[in-house]
Amino acid sequence: MTGSPKDYDAALDRAVVHAKRWLGSVPDRPVPPASDADAMASVFGGPLADGPTDPAEVVEALGSAMEPGLMSIASGRFFGWVMGGTLPAALASDWLVSAWDQNTGMRYPTPGTAAVEQVAGEWLLDVLGLPSTCDVGFTTGGTMANFVGLAAGRQRVLTDAGWDLDDLGLQGAPRVTVLAGAQRHDSVDLALRYLGLGRPTLVDADDQGRLRIDALASAFEAIPPGTPVILALQAGNLHSGAFDPLGDAVEVAHRHGAWVHVDGAFGLWAGASATLRPLVDRYGTADSWATDAHKTLNVPYDCGIAIVADRKAVRAAMEVHTSYLVNPSSLEQPADPLGVTPEMSRRARGVPVWAALRSLGRSGVAELVDGLHRNARAIADGIRTIEGAEVLNDVVYTQVSVAFGSDERTREVTRRVLVDGVAWMSGSRWRGRDVLRVSVSNWSTDDADVAASVDSVRRAAALP
Ligand SMILES: *Cc1c(COP(=O)(O)O)cnc(C)c1O
Repeated sequence: MTGSPKDYDAALDRAVVHAKRWLGSVPDRPVPPASDADAMASVFGGPLADGPTDPAEVVEALGSAMEPGLMSIASGRFFGWVMGGTLPAALASDWLVSAWDQNTGMRYPTPGTAAVEQVAGEWLLDVLGLPSTCDVGFTTGGTMANFVGLAAGRQRVLTDAGWDLDDLGLQGAPRVTVLAGAQRHDSVDLALRYLGLGRPTLVDADDQGRLRIDALASAFEAIPPGTPVILALQAGNLHSGAFDPLGDAVEVAHRHGAWVHVDGAFGLWAGASATLRPLVDRYGTADSWATDAHKTLNVPYDCGIAIVADRKAVRAAMEVHTSYLVNPSSLEQPADPLGVTPEMSRRARGVPVWAALRSLGRSGVAELVDGLHRNARAIADGIRTIEGAEVLNDVVYTQVSVAFGSDERTREVTRRVLVDGVAWMSGSRWRGRDVLRVSVSNWSTDDADVAASVDSVRRAAALP
């Protein structure tokens, strides 16, 4: 079964037709999918055909039957979880990444895509105002970016404690104390589990979910001197958008020799806006940072970004080698992409980041982030005028959490919003209450989307 280059033409042509049709339908179709996963499995299922099918026919079958199973995550009225849409330049570049099919683990065999990722990393550090000497790795998402930062931290604090992690692993190692805010994202716990570091010791948070500095100071006082410590901070709370007091927390932690990691899956982008920058005051003094490009930057799934100041620590943790002794001269050079992420083989997922940054420019990135914040405030202001609605958080960034009296009532309003189909917002629980949570993460949300979404919530809340 030898393929001909012409097979690509016909299959790609079908893909373009269906992609454009889908994107063209997004502004007007209901946001939620019309079908469910079981029904969709029966559409695409049945026994596998014995023989081959023409490639264009395969793409046609997929493209023509998929629509009922698609969520309009690309819609300006999608506010679920924290999920961005896709900028046009990022989407089209992602298609090229697939067509080029470059296994971008090393600089030497895939110089083009490795170079574009390197530049994307440099631009990112520049727009975020983080140290230009950091290593940048493109991961599948924020969870793995947290994993990379915390792995580098584990490497450094155990090395500082005189322990040879590479040869001996964690067995018999000095116990690493990990501190995290009470309202850290669950993916931090997940990454710590991958790393064999167990559950973090929680530090009290205030009513917005920000770690309390006085509680952090007491937590450090209780740790015996010489203990290896990692502190995981948060930039952007899922429910409130609030930021831990990053600069002050780093200062306290560094006084005790701890490694400080910042989970900024969507919040790190506040650093790109002159207006919002105070939220991440002095965050550049931390040791590692995690963020997502598939959230705030609006590149297609999937793309997270791990940023680590200590090149030696991250390469020791991630590079394919047998010794912690990285050749010091190589530390002056950009890392091979596989040297700073868990994967060996992977797609060039940093290329759409380059395209997004290039298409937005410096001012465009700032305007994107400011726009998300502005829309979140407008939605909160609109919802506040609805009788019985209570916005529970200070809308400092892109997140809004709303309660409608009792938990039952809030759940019912949430259910009706989803049935209405004009917008998608997540049901969640925060501070012991059920909430309707709005996350403004899509670049295309405009005033009309904001108004229509507030109206939808108003309708849902008006029903008896
Ligand atoms: C989304 C999110 C994560 C996890 O990122 P993924 O890309 O889903 O792996 C981590 N932390 C915070 C604060 C998040 O919002």
